[in-house]
Amino acid sequence: MAAKKFDVVVIGAGPGGYVAAIRASQLGKSVAIVERENLGGICLNWGCIPTKAMLRSAEVFHLMHRASEFGLSATGVSYDLPAVVARSRGVAKQLSGGIGHLMKKNKVTVFMGDATLPAKGRVSVKTAKGVEELEAPAIILATGARARTLPGLEADGDLVWTYRHALEPKRMPKKLLVIGSGAIGIEFASFFNTLGADTTVVEVMDRVLPVEDAEISAFAKKAFVKQGMNILEKTTVKKLDKGKGKVTAHLESNGKTETMEFDTVISAVGIVGNVENLGLEALGVKIDRTHVVTDEFCRTGVDGLYAIGDIAGAPWLAHKASHEGVMVAELIAGKHPHPIKPGSIAGCTYCHPQVASVGMTEAKAKEAGIAIKVGRFPFIGNGKAIALGESEGMIKTIFDAKTGELLGAHMIGAEVTELIQGYVIGRQLETTEEDLMHTVFPHPTLSEMMHEAVLDAYGQVIHM
Ligand SMILES: Cc1cc2nc3c(=O)[nH]c(=O)nc-3n(C[C@H](O)[C@H](O)[C@H](O)COP(=O)(O)OP(=O)(O)OC[C@H]3O[C@@H](n4cnc5c(N)ncnc54)[C@H](O)[C@@H]3O)c2cc1C
Repeated sequence: MAAKKFDVVVIGAGPGGYVAAIRASQLGKSVAIVERENLGGICLNWGCIPTKAMLRSAEVFHLMHRASEFGLSATGVSYDLPAVVARSRGVAKQLSGGIGHLMKKNKVTVFMGDATLPAKGRVSVKTAKGVEELEAPAIILATGARARTLPGLEADGDLVWTYRHALEPKRMPKKLLVIGSGAIGIEFASFFNTLGADTTVVEVMDRVLPVEDAEISAFAKKAFVKQGMNILEKTTVKKLDKGKGKVTAHLESNGKTETMEFDTVISAVGIVGNVENLGLEALGVKIDRTHVVTDEFCRTGVDGLYAIGDIAGAPWLAHKASHEGVMVAELIAGKHPHPIKPGSIAGCTYCHPQVASVGMTEAKAKEAGIAIKVGRFPFIGNGKAIALGESEGMIKTIFDAKTGELLGAHMIGAEVTELIQGYVIGRQLETTEEDLMHTVFPHPTLSEMMHEAVLDAYGQVIHM
């Protein structure tokens, strides 16, 4: 059978792939996309969206317990885990279906099947009905990533879960161990802890949320401990012994070992790129550990072959994947897009309280030898935060003392995952302290704290 010809073939329909396909189509290219599982990828089906739906249930549950603080009453508050999960799965399904409509609207041909690259410019798709051969001068790899497993800590879906199992939990854990305190681990810890699981989080580094500013990590730890979580830092899980309905975890900290028992373990120790069985080695694509090596424009070094999103390495975030998708589509269409600035990509963690940041931490700025000015503002000083009953949190800003450039912003507290974009725009526009200080922030809003945290860096804070 003759190969079907397209201008662009995208492999993987996650937020990297489907956005690249839409943009390429908008630019007049004939586009095919290949997906072996669900349109929308991990993000819509097993990542960003279903976790946020579950965390929303936990948030409402938490607020219902605080009803009396607001002059309300809610008695007999409880939860129905299968219903919480059903809502989350429903939200994922709705959004995945929406991608199907977007593909149709944008005239992107969808092939449901497993793709391989038998030769340069060619894609072979194993579908339920047979093999489809596709040909295109431009191919975009967007095959994403999956949970990393460590020897001795392998998930079995029964006692030891990955994020996939945790998104469709068979039971409510009574005694839960979460291995890893990155965004994924902490979000699940937050969800199950709020619903009442006795939760322990183990982190090998010296603090939780180790990529965040140290002050934010410390604040988060205090908040989690207050909520009843057991946080073990500088601790390694050496081995898990599985028994009947229980797991014995062997933990090592400062050269000492101890054992603890749990009924459920969630392993959240990172991800690995889906680089296998595609034929990349034969094409000469460079792979570093489990990620495709690319240049700043996502070019793999093989003519016409690009890699975007999680398969192309950190940061493993949906918005980074999508932005790379747009950039590559524009490059293929002969435009002159700008490469992505990693320092302007915000990271958000939707635990309680939420955490969000962009740019350099204080430690990184100091390491780089930059003279800095640091501003801080606490949620307790903000009228809207108090009116909302959300006075726990802080915002920290870091400026280059010489140039006034906003180097980094770090936030913890209610809705900071929505607020952070204000600073992201600031960084994108290369805003200085003066622009931010002269900006009028609406009252009463949580965003006023973003203003105050800038003013504080320059000794002009008002409400503190
Ligand atoms: C629990 C969890 C929560 C998360 N929360 C957030 C969050 O809040 N915010 C955020 O920004 N990021 C979050 N992420 C990360 C985010 O999901 C990823 O960064 C994002 O999905 C990466 O997009 P992608 O397009 O590169 O790959 P993916 O979304 O992984 O999509 C890749 C697609 O390629 C398909 N595929 C793979 N191989 C083949 C093949 N050979 N043939 C055909 N199809 C193939 C896969 O089936 C998949 O659908 C979360 C991740 C997890 C696991």
